[in-house]
Amino acid sequence: MADPVVDFRSDTLTKPSPAMREAMASALVGDDVFDEDPTIHELQAEVAALFGHEAALFAPSGTMANQIALQLAVPRGDELLCDAAAHIVSDEIGAAAALSGISTRTWPAVGAAVDVAAVESMIRPEGFVAVPTRAVAVEQTHNRGGGGVIPLSTLQDLRSVADRYGVHLHCDGARIWHAHVADGVSLAEYGALFDTLSVCLSKGLGAPVGSLVVGSASHIAAARKLRKRLGGGMRQAGILAAAGLYALRNNIARLADDHARARRLAEALAPAGVVDPAQIRTNIVPLDLTKASLDGPAFAAAARERGILTSVLGPRLVRLVTHLDQTGEGIAHAEAVLPTLLA
Ligand SMILES: *Cc1c(COP(=O)(O)O)cnc(C)c1O
Repeated sequence: MADPVVDFRSDTLTKPSPAMREAMASALVGDDVFDEDPTIHELQAEVAALFGHEAALFAPSGTMANQIALQLAVPRGDELLCDAAAHIVSDEIGAAAALSGISTRTWPAVGAAVDVAAVESMIRPEGFVAVPTRAVAVEQTHNRGGGGVIPLSTLQDLRSVADRYGVHLHCDGARIWHAHVADGVSLAEYGALFDTLSVCLSKGLGAPVGSLVVGSASHIAAARKLRKRLGGGMRQAGILAAAGLYALRNNIARLADDHARARRLAEALAPAGVVDPAQIRTNIVPLDLTKASLDGPAFAAAARERGILTSVLGPRLVRLVTHLDQTGEGIAHAEAVLPTLLA
């Protein structure tokens, strides 16, 4: 097998660049459990300001950031609504149930689409048999939904519904930067629509570690305690926050390149009938191999032989993710080779 020349498995695979490592090496640090790390303070203030919220809290992972936000919003036993493919319920090791006793009902996942009227019809008050709905969570961009972007107007409608019923609206914004770049909606516009958001520095932005919970000062004060309880109190983690600050300041605008590359890959693969390029809005390219000559594992194995790593998400579903550690040569190689595997 040739050495991998291009790795499309995930945008979490990126490694800190020399400049990012320099920022980490020179970071001022303190004990963050004592709330004394100046670089973490800087990161938290910068992210809160970007989203137009009062405060933010640095967390070791997106999973922890999401679960802290859910604990803020949903008392034990009460209910969260989200779609069935949401990371919060599908990819967090059952955390909402296992750690927080949260009941979940889901609506069917169709890409990144949100049918606001259908969500509204699911919201329930306390009853003889029902626990009350306390929160609705959406994912922007949608990971299993092919990197799809929820339109701003849909989110505005959802906010109106949340206000009408007094439910908490949470955004799993692991890749909200990609939505911002794809749709030209400011982070502050997104921020204004949610009670809490979780955002990831370690995906497309290229930092090695770190996510934040964003919200009101009172939510974030409570979140600090929940983070410590979950074992997420870190000490001189300013060294990690410095990587996050570097990522925020240097790696957002360039996501447009990842989106363009994803679209080009989809265009190269469109004649094989496995993807519709018009559906590719950000950095994720799902390949539906239902009608292809190879199934998911066979396609991935053949690609690997040619130095191209992909993720198999189902018997006939493969995913490609573009990110900042891929080279122009690697992308060109994939564009040339992948279609021939399906010919
Ligand atoms: C990656 C991701 C997360 C967080 O994952 P961690 O691996 O815990 O950092 C949350 N939501 C979505 C949609 C993601 O893609």
